[in-house]
Amino acid sequence: MSERIRLGLVGIGKIARDQHLPALKGDDRFELVATASRNASVDGVAAHKDIESLIAGGHDLTAVSLCTPPEGRYDQARIAIEAGLHVMLEKPPAATLTEIFDLAERARAKDVTLFTTWHSREAAGVEPAKAWLQGKQIKAARITWREDIRRWHPGQEWILAAGGFGVFDPGINALSIVTAILPEALLLDEAWMEVPEGRASPLRAKLHMRCAGAPVTADFDFLQTGPQTWDIEVDTDSGTLRLGMGGSILQLPGEDEQKAPDREYARLYARFAELVAAKQSDVDVRPLQLVADAFLVGERAIGETFAF
Ligand code: NAP
Repeated sequence: MSERIRLGLVGIGKIARDQHLPALKGDDRFELVATASRNASVDGVAAHKDIESLIAGGHDLTAVSLCTPPEGRYDQARIAIEAGLHVMLEKPPAATLTEIFDLAERARAKDVTLFTTWHSREAAGVEPAKAWLQGKQIKAARITWREDIRRWHPGQEWILAAGGFGVFDPGINALSIVTAILPEALLLDEAWMEVPEGRASPLRAKLHMRCAGAPVTADFDFLQTGPQTWDIEVDTDSGTLRLGMGGSILQLPGEDEQKAPDREYARLYARFAELVAAKQSDVDVRPLQLVADAFLVGERAIGETFAF
């Protein structure tokens, strides 16, 4: 086996604990050697407060994986790239498009890997959905992405601040799937969003897009309690494809439902290891572009105040 990737994990919050730590534990190509987080740490792993002291900490790092909120991640990624480290970014990869284009340039110049991850694309149904849609005529598509902000983002004030994406934080997962499975570019025609009084980012949004002349709509809602909905339906000349539960369940016309266990983050780290070994980057900004487009052309309404 080639040398293990000596990894520093940055931003020890919900997603780092729920997904990154188990995925790293299950992949012997990686060795988690240290963390950087202002307040949190991981038992038994060397802990630093910030990325500068992580890099200066004498850990002989190969790479970092950044799990902090998008606002501020650019500076961390830039410091890591300048130090010659490979960088894996949580979604959304940065707070702005310019930041991510600049990081891609810098990674190229330093010959290190930059990986903009989109975990929902690794859901079990996504690859087979993409394969099935090849060569079919798309007639329409509908995205319904409704979840409970208090359940999935407890106390995360940053998510409703400027640069926090609001409901586009989960909504961008749906956009990452449709940009991967639909055959042509998605273009945004209209958007509407509702921002709670006193906050900067929306709790609800609706998008009208088109792909190859077919209408594609998205309904994003951060206030859905009870059953959660992460569904995509694509009508084609051969019937309707349904991706349920964030892409983990695939229903093709006339066939039984296909389901498989969640391996999204295991697959992301496997891909990162491959990219590092091949000295390549994978930078796809299409989901972020659509969100930026929504902020460019979208109408904004002010909604009721919101407290976690
Ligand atoms: P989180 O629970 O708030 O964790 C992020 C951690 O980053 C915080 O605990 C904090 O730890 C650190 N941090 C550094 N700078 C910060 C700042 N300025 N404001 C707030 N925290 C800061 O958030 P998360 O849910 O893990 O989300 C992080 C990223 O993962 C986001 O981009 C999100 O879209 C993505 N993601 C989240 C989920 C999910 O279900 N929650 C799923 C997939 C992807 P310290 O206080 O110790 O510094």
